[in-house]
Amino acid sequence: MIEGHNGNLGPLMTGSTVVIIGGGPGGAGCAIALKNLADELGRKIRIILYEGKIFESSTHYNQCAGVLSSPILEIFETQLRIPFPRELVQRQITGYILHSDHEEIAMKKEGDITYAVRRVNFDDYLLKRAKEKGVEVIHSRVTDVEFNSGWVMVYSESDNTKADVVIGSFGMDDGMAKIFERATPYSQPRFLNSIVIKIHPDEEFLAQFGNFIHAFMPPLNKIEFGAVTPKMNHLTINIAGIAINSGSMDAFLKYPPVRKILPPGFNPENSGLRYFKGRFPFRVSKGFYGNRYVIVGDSAGLLRPFKGKGINMSIVTAVNAANTIMMKGISKEAFENDYLVECMEIINDVPYGKALRWLAIKSSNLRLMDSIIKLGKTDIIMENALYNCVSAHKSFKEIFRDTWNIKFILKILGILFKFFLKKIIIVRKIDSYNM
Ligand SMILES: Cc1cc2nc3c(=O)[nH]c(=O)nc-3n(C[C@H](O)[C@H](O)[C@H](O)COP(=O)(O)OP(=O)(O)OC[C@H]3O[C@@H](n4cnc5c(N)ncnc54)[C@H](O)[C@@H]3O)c2cc1C
Repeated sequence: MIEGHNGNLGPLMTGSTVVIIGGGPGGAGCAIALKNLADELGRKIRIILYEGKIFESSTHYNQCAGVLSSPILEIFETQLRIPFPRELVQRQITGYILHSDHEEIAMKKEGDITYAVRRVNFDDYLLKRAKEKGVEVIHSRVTDVEFNSGWVMVYSESDNTKADVVIGSFGMDDGMAKIFERATPYSQPRFLNSIVIKIHPDEEFLAQFGNFIHAFMPPLNKIEFGAVTPKMNHLTINIAGIAINSGSMDAFLKYPPVRKILPPGFNPENSGLRYFKGRFPFRVSKGFYGNRYVIVGDSAGLLRPFKGKGINMSIVTAVNAANTIMMKGISKEAFENDYLVECMEIINDVPYGKALRWLAIKSSNLRLMDSIIKLGKTDIIMENALYNCVSAHKSFKEIFRDTWNIKFILKILGILFKFFLKKIIIVRKIDSYNM
């Protein structure tokens, strides 16, 4: 058994032990931030991180597309204080192309630097930096947590640790969520499912594909959005929706705007595709902190719902949690007064995210995306709104604030008017044929 607990709920002092469950960007980021702060404050604490996977051997696939966008450099330099791994960058992404049934719009913004990396290599890099700083990484799955009055017991497949505080950074892992749900008031955030595949076109095709991420909101049953991301030697294709399955991916690959950007000879039926399943949380979880525990990143649903930048968000929330633990304490009140306050920007964005998600689904189902993209080509407000929605560069609240003015609303009403007029004309035509 690994010992070490100091019994009170104040900030961690010399002799304290913290356990982190999960070594993704949230877990590794939290470990690094804790170590930085402990060194700065001259406190000797033990940080033990459990990670079930071994990233180094690359035997475990991560469904994440590995797109890192701003302010990722700042997060590395100022929050984690480690170099950004430029050597892992497979492509520098120029921007996004948003497609509808018959239209497309290419969008890029000066200064918004985006990189594509291989996710397992990125996670391996972060975990190695944590180890270098003295974090003890145990490659074993945590099997239970038990809260006692003065400590937390963490059980794993290989050992157990008595800790002062435990940090849940286990992503959308069902098993670990159930364990926390049993032991605490936590409940897993609601999520969209995602299906991911990779295809490997030849070098010439990949070279001329360009450095844009192609985004789609197809009017296909169940799919809320999809993307094709160019990597070094392949394209990563992912879709998301509450009830999607491998059949939804097959339908997406046949959707003409997607078909148009894939290699001409590509046939999903004889390409031996391997499907991977993942999850995007889109609500903040309940009970994500309490006495002696705090949950960060995806497990807490602390990211902009229905958007990218999950990696950035998980590191940022993990750094916030580390600050609270080292400066304020490990009680429910400390997390409420500090960690929660730091995360409020993300939490306050949820209602705006909900509204935008509803608008996006309706626009796609009513086949309004062609008109919206057409407007985006001539109207800078619409172009910015589309760019910020796709890139996650701004919060949903900011998108609403920048977009909703009378002039813009009139333009949208114009689109709706034309849409309904067209519908009425079609119905009248059908009626006249039937007479
Ligand atoms: C299809 C898809 C594409 C995405 N693309 C992007 C993208 O391009 N850019 C971006 O920023 N975000 C992207 N995301 C989101 C991003 O992957 C997540 O937001 C991010 O990984 C969250 O980090 P995390 O550390 O919170 O969780 P995770 O990265 O999920 O890490 C959790 C870790 O915990 C470990 N773990 C779980 N249970 C246990 C246990 N019991 N014991 C020990 N270890 C355990 C897991 O092995 C895992 O390594 C994508 C997500 C999906 C589904």
